[in-house]
Amino acid sequence: MSPLIFKKEETARIRAVILKIGRMEKVDILGLRVKNIVNESISLNCYKNTFVNKIIDFTLSDLSIHKPTAIVYVVSGLEKRGNLLKSPLFPLLKGVDLAELTAKISKTKTFVLNELDCAARGISVSSPKEDFFTLVNWDDYFSFKNYEKGRIVNFKEGGHIKFDFSFFAPLCECGERGCINAIIQGQNIERRIIEEAKTIGIKIPIHKSPIDFLLSEYEKSDNWAIGFLNSIGIILGDFLGNIEKVFFSPLIIWRGNLAKKFLHIIEYLLKDKINEEVNFKFTPFDNDYDTIIGVNSLFDSKGNLIQEI
Ligand SMILES: [Zn+2]
Repeated sequence: MSPLIFKKEETARIRAVILKIGRMEKVDILGLRVKNIVNESISLNCYKNTFVNKIIDFTLSDLSIHKPTAIVYVVSGLEKRGNLLKSPLFPLLKGVDLAELTAKISKTKTFVLNELDCAARGISVSSPKEDFFTLVNWDDYFSFKNYEKGRIVNFKEGGHIKFDFSFFAPLCECGERGCINAIIQGQNIERRIIEEAKTIGIKIPIHKSPIDFLLSEYEKSDNWAIGFLNSIGIILGDFLGNIEKVFFSPLIIWRGNLAKKFLHIIEYLLKDKINEEVNFKFTPFDNDYDTIIGVNSLFDSKGNLIQEI
């Protein structure tokens, strides 16, 4: 992990709650220390009020342990600035003023930020040389953000750029068909592996995840697995090649489990399709540490947002 560069007086006591597909994570950031990390699963299969109350209860339970100067929700896929939320990954949050509801109960300043914005900021403040890059998240959710000279260049999430215009293109959480997220996010890749394996008569062992099964078949030089991963590499290469034509960023930084599992196999296909001067690297941080550092860097010791992102 890279050394942190903040001065102590610049840091705040923040309770950050990170909302991702299927889970939420609560973290207390106390200056440069991170404490009290709690994970809980969240289901979208409930009423809107139940969902919102569950998030607020999770956020505020045990709040007295480290009384924060600010509460920060970090939401995957968040697209709208302002009070009312909009993220295709959390349809039950649509139109909810989570910040106001939480602030009213807790009497603590509350903010809502986009997860990838915070992660990009975290990478940049911990490696100040890197001030111009495309951060690509490839996990259960695929998206990207371009970061340049201290600010995010694309305000909207890049995962919902339409890439497959056919009638039966895979359905995305945003309601459209054929977004790049829908094509290569983890759950849809798993679904495709299961369907293809069934069609060609390959049995996936019960104890193995479809993605690990694909990788083990690839190791055995199985033609289906090689073809499958090549097709993913070609799609991702074409997509990023197009993005690169718009943003000209010299560096692509990857984050996410799927990136970790697949990239060593398909990187050569990407390099073929992207300007050869572009470099690739992984985020130096595990789990959500880039996000946590980003959140920490955005607040002063009184819990005020230093910079809009
Ligand atoms: Zn979409």
